Amino acid sequence: MSSYIDIAVNLLGSALEPDITQIIQAAADQGVSPLIVIGSDLSESAAAIQLCQQYPKQLYCTAGVHPHHASEWQTNSKQTLIDLCQASQVVAVGECGLDYNRDFSPRPAQRQAFIAQLELAIDLQKPVLMHERDAHSDFLSIVSEYRPHLRGALLHCFTGSQAQMEAYIDLDLHLGITGWVCDERRGQELAALVPFIPKDRLLVETDSPYLLPRSMRPKPKSSKNKPEYLPYIAQYIANLRGEDPAEFAKQCYQNSLAFFNLSQQNG
Ligand SMILES: [Zn+2]
Repeated sequence: MSSYIDIAVNLLGSALEPDITQIIQAAADQGVSPLIVIGSDLSESAAAIQLCQQYPKQLYCTAGVHPHHASEWQTNSKQTLIDLCQASQVVAVGECGLDYNRDFSPRPAQRQAFIAQLELAIDLQKPVLMHERDAHSDFLSIVSEYRPHLRGALLHCFTGSQAQMEAYIDLDLHLGITGWVCDERRGQELAALVPFIPKDRLLVETDSPYLLPRSMRPKPKSSKNKPEYLPYIAQYIANLRGEDPAEFAKQCYQNSLAFFNLSQQNG
């Protein structure tokens, strides 16, 4: 059986929260372990660290402020986040970035919180897990400025165009691909692009409970996506790339270990 790391799971503040133990176990049964729990704001990041302590080696987390919560970023947020990042369970700063699709926070506040987190990631020499939706040009100009000093930079749930993909690869970003690619309607463009992502820059993720792969048969009874479906997504991408699924899984696993510096933690 292949091993997988789900690099973006929204275990807290989502429909997955009531069944955490069962979800971790069901994922592990499919070879999916550890899971990386997303911290979307400062209090959720603190809660994510506590959760990781309850499931050592099975859970790691990010700590950061999602663009939806950027308006909550205050002068003391940076110090709070620095303190959170001292926990050994925190493997990346984020999820941070820009979301001009929902615009839940004003755009200037989004840019300010994003830049502050990139600076912090540079100071701490931690990788960043980033989000970008309908904000390519501002995102690109900000990340271009900081990329040379960042230890590692991952754009999770990439769903952009070919030109955007090329710009991100030129910047030496890692790209996270979700079950969006399995969507027979809106995933078509992405499906055509995934064969062109360099193999050492590709990570796979569910972003569960969102983005249930639409092509799964039989269709899961619940519309909730779960980390246990990651092997399905990875096999789907391997097929698109014309690669052996086991080889592809191995490469993604190694990419994830290296990006999040997990090899030491996992012994
Ligand atoms: Zn996201």
